Amino acid sequence: MTDANTALLETLASRLPAGTLLGPDDAGARHRADWTRVNACAPAAVARPRTTEEVAAILRACHEVGQPVVVQGGLTGLAGGATPRAGELALSLERLAGVESIDADAGTLQVRAGTPLAVAQAAAEAQGLQLALDLGSRGSCTIGGNIATNAGGNRVIRYGMMRELVLGLEAVLADGTVLSALNPMLKNNAGYDLKQLFIGTEGTLGVVTRAVLRLHAAPRERLTAFVAAPSFAALVALLRAARSEFGGELGSFEAMWANYYELAIAALKANPRPFDGRHPFYVLLEIEALEPVAATARLETFLARLLEAGTAADALVARSLEESARLWRVRESAGEIMMTLGIPMAYDVSLPMARMTAFLERLDAEVPAVLGDQPLYVFGHLGDGNLHLVTGLRSLGQVAALDQIVYGGLAGFGSVSAEHGIGQLKRHWLSASRSPAELATMRLLKSALDPRGILNPGRVL
Ligand SMILES: Cc1cc2nc3c(=O)[nH]c(=O)nc-3n(C[C@H](O)[C@H](O)[C@H](O)COP(=O)(O)OP(=O)(O)OC[C@H]3O[C@@H](n4cnc5c(N)ncnc54)[C@H](O)[C@@H]3O)c2cc1C
Repeated sequence: MTDANTALLETLASRLPAGTLLGPDDAGARHRADWTRVNACAPAAVARPRTTEEVAAILRACHEVGQPVVVQGGLTGLAGGATPRAGELALSLERLAGVESIDADAGTLQVRAGTPLAVAQAAAEAQGLQLALDLGSRGSCTIGGNIATNAGGNRVIRYGMMRELVLGLEAVLADGTVLSALNPMLKNNAGYDLKQLFIGTEGTLGVVTRAVLRLHAAPRERLTAFVAAPSFAALVALLRAARSEFGGELGSFEAMWANYYELAIAALKANPRPFDGRHPFYVLLEIEALEPVAATARLETFLARLLEAGTAADALVARSLEESARLWRVRESAGEIMMTLGIPMAYDVSLPMARMTAFLERLDAEVPAVLGDQPLYVFGHLGDGNLHLVTGLRSLGQVAALDQIVYGGLAGFGSVSAEHGIGQLKRHWLSASRSPAELATMRLLKSALDPRGILNPGRVL
């Protein structure tokens, strides 16, 4: 620890309640990396404020001396954004947690940033409403992290990304200024919509401390279907047919390529195979039913039509919540499976549907030269044009060549980050998805709001 670090920690200790600051040894391994575990590094200290005022006091003190800060939520991020760099102070929102209020008439929920997503979802459900954001990491990821990454997940096709669900928020700027914009209204065009500065900007422009979120009516029932498709063209036709049949009731459309599906089935030993046969593609469909009985009949008729037309090779509808949960586990085990694959490597790209076949053919042709016989597993939120590509590397030396194939193959038309963000891991590829003018404007915003560059430096830009 440098003298400057020691002096800062003494200042912070004198301004904050006892127990707010943890030294690197007391903090344990938890604060050293996000879910990727790449470049894990102990922070100089961990600050765990319980209030917005404490967040402001910490940032004010860090701003005064130019101390770099890494913001941490639930540490489930997949881009290395919350992983400390040497000498950084970790600002953890884990104790600034809890649902503050729910207005069932207005359909809004006010929540502190460190609240786990699942806790906020449960609070909405208790009122017969739903917080529509849903990710496999729901038990650990936090609302602040969801806002900072503009999280996507399983229901984007129906409700949009986190941005669509944030009505207002409170954030603390790098110099400790508290910006309170806890707007609860759906409509508010009075001047600039400043909340947008903090949604999807990965903690580089401010620390989100509280938010007002939009709730939706809970569906009477969720119907889950699992469908096998004989080709990629059939998968796309299936998506189109599901959109046209169910419109706003189509809640999820999660595609799995055979290599990912077989890996997940093998990992989930207790899970019976949904189908006896093997197929090139699978999709998990969720329908949010307003009239459950009629919707089940409609779903069955829809699937029968697809089977008859050859668009589906096999199909089933879950008959119970347990069966539905078993099917979802096939899709959602990706996070754990990934960690068992050598050095885990995950891509999160989006591209126009019309480009997908050519992009995937390019991967098939070029990836084996880098990975040998190690597969690149494919799955994703196909309805959102979002593919996840996952593999296990033998050495970090393979990263640059694989990045070149995947990200290079998207340049000019796709995005190197559909929903996980840029963090530290994709910084060097940001320019493949953003124009020089866009990058210059991002830098302008960063220097205006964080002139000393203390907030999440080395992330995004
Ligand atoms: C099993 C699994 C499944 C996942 N599925 C999905 C998915 O379907 N869709 C998806 O989008 N993501 C998914 N993720 C990624 C991850 O869960 C999301 O990015 C999530 O939003 C991160 O929240 P967090 O609280 O864990 O943030 P962290 O990992 O702690 O931080 C992520 C970034 O946000 C910043 N940050 C955190 N809190 C704040 C705050 N209060 N103010 C300002 N900046 C902050 C951090 O500095 C960092 O840059 C998945 C991850 C796992 C492990």
